[in-house]
Amino acid sequence: MTLSKDLLSRIEKIVGPANFFPAETDRICYATDSSLLSQMNNWMPDLVVRVLTSEQVSQVLALANEFLVPVVPRGAGTGQCCGAVAQQGGIMMDLTGMNRIVSMDLDNLQVTVQPGIVHAELNKELAGHGFFFPPDPGSTKMCTLGGMVSNNSSGQRSVKYGTTKQYILGLEVVLPTGEVMVTGGVRSRALKSVAGYDLTSLMVGSEGTLGVVTRIRLKVLPLPERRGLVIAFFDQLESTGQAVVQVFRRRLFPSAIEIMDQSAIVAANLYKPELALPDAEAMLLFEVDGSPPDVAYQAKAISEVCAQFARKVEWTDDPERLKALWAARGVVGAAAGRVKPGATRVYIGEDICVPVNAVAQALRNIRAIGAKYNVPIVTYGHIGDGNLHAAPIIDPNEAIEIEKVKKIADEIHHMALDLDGTTTGEHGVGLARAEYMEEELGFSLHVMRRIKRLLDPRNILNPGKMSLDDGPLPEK
Ligand SMILES: Cc1cc2nc3c(=O)[nH]c(=O)nc-3n(C[C@H](O)[C@H](O)[C@H](O)COP(=O)(O)OP(=O)(O)OC[C@H]3O[C@@H](n4cnc5c(N)ncnc54)[C@H](O)[C@@H]3O)c2cc1C
Repeated sequence: MTLSKDLLSRIEKIVGPANFFPAETDRICYATDSSLLSQMNNWMPDLVVRVLTSEQVSQVLALANEFLVPVVPRGAGTGQCCGAVAQQGGIMMDLTGMNRIVSMDLDNLQVTVQPGIVHAELNKELAGHGFFFPPDPGSTKMCTLGGMVSNNSSGQRSVKYGTTKQYILGLEVVLPTGEVMVTGGVRSRALKSVAGYDLTSLMVGSEGTLGVVTRIRLKVLPLPERRGLVIAFFDQLESTGQAVVQVFRRRLFPSAIEIMDQSAIVAANLYKPELALPDAEAMLLFEVDGSPPDVAYQAKAISEVCAQFARKVEWTDDPERLKALWAARGVVGAAAGRVKPGATRVYIGEDICVPVNAVAQALRNIRAIGAKYNVPIVTYGHIGDGNLHAAPIIDPNEAIEIEKVKKIADEIHHMALDLDGTTTGEHGVGLARAEYMEEELGFSLHVMRRIKRLLDPRNILNPGKMSLDDGPLPEK
């Protein structure tokens, strides 16, 4: 797509020359996110702009509307579903420069931030005051709050604390037309409100297709005093699911329940031999938090439950030991590639979520799919809410391996739907999972398309994503 000289010079005036990047060497940095699909295609935007104020966002969007040019909002680009790439060209809008904490109102359990602030930076600041923002993606040191809101991100602690959407009290959003909307009450500092349609929730998880988030009012919680960890090794996959169900039945409420399949244990040991994890079909990690006596009580009770199913169980609330035990889970994403020398881990079919009592079946199915295509798959995830990350290990320079891994991802996605699950528990739809939306969402996808047309009548904001502009609306 060629952007007219008129448009280019008007945009340069809005953002200033220092934040205006028409050169290919700059644009290429924005051609991919973490997904294999984006890395295979390298879709380059025609222009990158770094915006620093809501007014600039509004002016750029109004111009894009006038000139019918696509705009793609982007945070850190760590997304794994091809959401922040310019598949149809146009303007890449980089929001990382809007990275301030605007205000902290901790008496009222809330802070207001700009969208470009990095998650770990926010939590570092909050920890100094004894608070935290609970959703915890593995990309914490890179991803932005704007990206988290737009993908409704979550992580290990969602089993107890929920996902980003549970913490968003209100947003400032620039609509695709350039109009600015504040959701959740224009002046509100209330912690709950049922005034009007819940447009905050509509925007959370909309993956940059309905508006550009320019300010976020979010709820924070007091930081738990102590954490503890139970780690258990199982000889049978099914026992892992049974242990989790029994923990809930015992009225225990861990802050995280993580699983590492045998493949992930092998990978972690290869990456860090000093971990010396015993060979097992799977291991579970239960984190508990609260006051010191409560942590000890919960950890002991969970250990008792696990002892009925597991070969080996250990628990600790000693911070150093805790760090060492969590290290196994912490390295697994990076370690996955070690299981096949010369190969690498790719993000495709990596985020299914199934009912908790179907996790063991899903793990068996993933193993079978890997064996069928002779591709190692390292699997781990958040068993507490059924979210599994399957990591196929391939040589991405081999065309045949790429073809195989596409088929693997397709089978994994269909398998998740067959088990009454979803193709994405936390990473989003973007382009990577757009083709499954008809099957997964049914008629509600068509309602989503109507909402998209209403808010973005010229389809300029992140077009082509989430299957929102594919196909006609069904006949009444
Ligand atoms: C190693 C690794 C681990 C990860 N672990 C997790 C995990 O545990 N849980 C999880 O949920 N995700 C995880 N992710 C995925 C990703 O980090 C999250 O989805 C994250 O929230 C994306 O943030 P970002 O700033 O990188 O957004 P980007 O990738 O830049 O954008 C993501 C989407 O949000 C839109 N967007 C970004 N900013 C705005 C804005 N201000 N307004 C409107 N739309 C916007 C984009 O258009 C795009 O559709 C992981 C990724 C990596 C690489």
